Amino acid sequence: MLLEVNRLEISYGDVRAVHGADFAVAEGELVSIIGANGAGKTSILNGIMGLVPVRNGTVRFRGREITAMPAHRRAHEGIRLVPERARVFPRLSVYENLLTGAYGLRKKIPLEERLRWLYGLFPILEERRDQPAQTLSGGEQQQLAIARALISDPKLLLVDEVSMGLMPKLVDQVFDLLQSLNRDHGLTILLVEQNARASLEISHRAYVLETGSVVMEGPADDLLDDPKIQRAYLGLV
Ligand code: ATP
Repeated sequence: MLLEVNRLEISYGDVRAVHGADFAVAEGELVSIIGANGAGKTSILNGIMGLVPVRNGTVRFRGREITAMPAHRRAHEGIRLVPERARVFPRLSVYENLLTGAYGLRKKIPLEERLRWLYGLFPILEERRDQPAQTLSGGEQQQLAIARALISDPKLLLVDEVSMGLMPKLVDQVFDLLQSLNRDHGLTILLVEQNARASLEISHRAYVLETGSVVMEGPADDLLDDPKIQRAYLGLV
């Protein structure tokens, strides 16, 4: 397994956000964690990235325990997070935002080549290269946030609620893009989403998170057909 998380516990003071979550992602997989508001999805990604302390349990990446490793070192190891609501640097240009994704990397990356690849995937970012990021639409900012994470050639991409605040047409576009990154470019992706249908449709496997614990897991197609999931997460009766 590329990523293995065991008995993960994350708390904020007395608030237990995640308690005892177990899950894993193999190299080449696209896995999603679906769950309602407040189920603990963002906390899980922040725990894997090293942005919040893990109270108990272990996080292993490529067979090595990284539970206590600082976030910047996890980034060097090849883990990248696309945060909720993109959070690009509003006053920096699109190009400068992209460069922040490569900043401080020990490994030298062929920057020009990566930029050419990214501009091929996201033509709008090349067109808007010199504009401040705050002038981009929500969907374009989301593309920029994904591109910024990809510039470093990560081994594992963590994606937090990529569909939030986007209109349905853009949601489809972003999910198609994630599927293509996984299928055609071999990128391993762990997605957390409230939009259960869209994420299950592109995932190999999924975990269902309720109040900080995994309550169900399986192939995404099986979950799409499961009456309990259909009732609770897909708006079907
Ligand atoms: P959403 O989809 O609404 O973002 P989520 O599934 O990502 O939800 P988290 O953001 O991980 O869930 O939150 C899990 C629980 O932890 C919630 O009850 C939330 O209120 C609480 N929580 C999250 N961050 C903090 C914090 N910094 N301080 C206190 N409580 C927090």
